[in-house]
Amino acid sequence: MIGQVGDLTSPDDARRSILAAVGDPETEEVALTAGLGRVLAEAVESPLDVPPFDSSAMDGFAVLAGPEDELEVRGESRAGHPSSEAVRPGLAVRISTGAPIPDGADAVVEVERTGSAGDDRVRVGRSEAGANVRRAGEDLRRGQLVMAPGTELGPAELGVLASLGRDRALCARRPRLALLVTGDELTEPGEPLQAGHIYSSNSSALAAQAERAGAQITLRAKVPDDRETTEAALAGALESADVVLISGGVSVGPHDHVKPALHALGVEERFWRVALRPGKPTWFGLRGRTLVFGMPGNPVSAMVCFQLFARPALRTLQGASPEAARATARLAAPVTLSPTRLEAVRCRLLTTEEGLEAEPTGDQGSHRLSSMLGADCLALVGPGEGELAAGERVEVELL
Ligand code: AMP
Ligand code: MG
Repeated sequence: MIGQVGDLTSPDDARRSILAAVGDPETEEVALTAGLGRVLAEAVESPLDVPPFDSSAMDGFAVLAGPEDELEVRGESRAGHPSSEAVRPGLAVRISTGAPIPDGADAVVEVERTGSAGDDRVRVGRSEAGANVRRAGEDLRRGQLVMAPGTELGPAELGVLASLGRDRALCARRPRLALLVTGDELTEPGEPLQAGHIYSSNSSALAAQAERAGAQITLRAKVPDDRETTEAALAGALESADVVLISGGVSVGPHDHVKPALHALGVEERFWRVALRPGKPTWFGLRGRTLVFGMPGNPVSAMVCFQLFARPALRTLQGASPEAARATARLAAPVTLSPTRLEAVRCRLLTTEEGLEAEPTGDQGSHRLSSMLGADCLALVGPGEGELAAGERVEVELL
């Protein structure tokens, strides 16, 4: 952990301050068909045994377990169509995978170990009790806790909920997020680029990060470097969102209007400027329960700040863990340390015989967004003097 460095807030303190400001999630019923990526807000108990009945794991013959034998075949138990015949000594019931085990039977002899012995007669190999039988409740028992609140619904979770007969689940409401980008120099992609302009990339990158973190983008706008317009845009954003992200214009230049506008709108500053590289000019504040992030304009800084500060807030707002997966890896190349700031180095993660290796993606200038291409993780290093040598172990946060 790094302490306060001059007037910079340490990244750990910044995170703590953000998480302390996040309220409890609101909840809503969500249809399973729309559930991918949603976060559970209920404890899910199984209302039934899964599988619900004893069934066959093989195509073959349901029998009473015993030695090799010749049996009379009576009826068939097919998947979805139980047999009305019961198994008694001397009798077998033909059975298919997933079909209910007939009354009286306690084993299934797979078809590969049987042979015809004339009309309606079969030779079966030796069997042990329970052979090829899937027991009711073998997967999940009735009353068993299956998933805890805070679980993110992925394909496996959705499949398991369906196996319990659930077609909906109580989930956290997706946080509504308003995304503003500031700058007279910004042109939206798809439009002709004017002299002295650049295409706005933050709108796309931050929106995608926010959606991936579970947010619903309710407002997306480009704001010129003008005090009144900035304030009006922020006023609208504050009305319509749980989280407001505004990129650029958060420094102290004559054309940076975000801080004074936020102040005028009654957004209370919690911190400004973090001991992080890239990402120093990050601002965070609150109005009521609405969280406001003043993100750096530089595209890499904005993405790094999102990952380390806005993402944990959005996850917590949904009752999910704020922590992204972390690991340790060996640096594949030396990294120059910042004496005062934690450095977030964009790296590819390689699996080598000696374990994970983090290879910087190239020049780490905060304006070089292409350095995020192929980046699997951020290596979090420093602050410190000099250089961290190749081979040193570092903590990495997976992207
Ligand atoms: P600012 O924080 O407004 O001083 O912006 C810092 C740098 O980030 C400047 O070079 C801006 O042109 C650039 N920048 C700001 N907003 C965006 C954006 N939406 N997309 C790409 N670059 C941006
Ligand atoms: Mg600007």
